Amino acid sequence: MSTQKVAPQALPTSGRSWAEISAQMQRARSNDAKWQEGKTFGGVYPGSAEITHVAQQAYIMFFMENLAHSRGFPSLMRFEREIVAMTASLLHAPQAIGSVTSGGTESLFLAVRTARDQARKERGVTSPQLLVPRTAYPAFDKIAHYLGVQIVRTHIDADFKADLAAVQDAITDNTVLIAASAPGFAHGVVDPIAQMAALASARGINFHVDASVGGYQLPFLRALGHPVPDFDLSVPGVTSMHADLHKFGYSVPGTSVILYRDAALREYQAFTVDWAIGSWRRPAMLGTRPGGALAASWAVMQFLGESGYLRLTESLWNTTQQMMQGINDIPGLQVWGKPEMSVFAYGSLTLDMLAIADFMETKGWYILRQLEPPGIHVVLTPPHERIVNSYLADLRNAVPHVRGAVDGSSGDKRTG
Ligand SMILES: *Cc1c(COP(=O)(O)O)cnc(C)c1O
Repeated sequence: MSTQKVAPQALPTSGRSWAEISAQMQRARSNDAKWQEGKTFGGVYPGSAEITHVAQQAYIMFFMENLAHSRGFPSLMRFEREIVAMTASLLHAPQAIGSVTSGGTESLFLAVRTARDQARKERGVTSPQLLVPRTAYPAFDKIAHYLGVQIVRTHIDADFKADLAAVQDAITDNTVLIAASAPGFAHGVVDPIAQMAALASARGINFHVDASVGGYQLPFLRALGHPVPDFDLSVPGVTSMHADLHKFGYSVPGTSVILYRDAALREYQAFTVDWAIGSWRRPAMLGTRPGGALAASWAVMQFLGESGYLRLTESLWNTTQQMMQGINDIPGLQVWGKPEMSVFAYGSLTLDMLAIADFMETKGWYILRQLEPPGIHVVLTPPHERIVNSYLADLRNAVPHVRGAVDGSSGDKRTG
């Protein structure tokens, strides 16, 4: 998608006015997904117009600053320290240490790399393996590829959770990291983290929890009294985890937090080399680090506070229950598994879900299609409260519309 063929084009011969440029940019976005109207489900994670405004103002305030030169910007260093500390406290590990990264992918990269390098040095592992369930995010494959680590995927049970026996069977002397999701993006289901972490710990293997989506929603659901399985750093055997502020932290793209239970493992995250300027050390993967996203995330956390996140999470839980109930009430459709938060998928044993997805797109919804099992993926954020009824009405209309089309001849837009 990002490697589109474009006609050769040089820079404009001379510059143009901002008035002209901004008008053209406004026209260019006219066909973009309408996330502000609740038409998208994933990709953009707004909390409310008010929160988005705070994030925008804070972003603009620090939009030119660069955290690579941290000594020059004590403000940003303080924001990073406090974001890490607030997240550690939320995830029941006030002593944990960590970093703010550019997103879930960088956090995962660092988790796999620290585990690989520690196992190489301390256990002599030279052919490292990473063990994850089938439902773990695809970025694990990409990162394993980058880092020369073999990825081993184990099967899942009927509820879309990691099968413990399969995990146990797949552990070898070369396993450097086992990871699980809280929850997985595809089905919104939390893996049996306590049991998996115990298996890892019994063999002296590091264990990482991918809480990209759950990290800033599950703690609040639990505080509100909803059933949430153990998933955070309070679980024995969990050695690292990460949570994304640009998902249910309701911040702007570009912030995730990685946390380590102890400093010895975290030491492997930094990279140091002697160079012309002296010792060059970078704590994480990026060089230049944009100050805007960091400042926006700090500001959103301050703006919401615990009570703000609790309030948003409670209304989002209600919206999610309404949406899932409404889908299950439509004959032929069902939500897959038992989703634990506002991320889930639904499908059908009888209806052509690709045709349903096509129909929903004719109604202006931006739909993410899923294959295992065939269905439609949904990520709900607080503003979706306003669209539950219209979405369900369109979905009810979609069913009779596609009933005759179960031959699967609809569209080839299988991926999202
Ligand atoms: C989104 C997501 C990621 C990747 O995060 P990015 O910020 O997109 O790099 C990893 N794991 C899960 C479960 C996710 O939902």
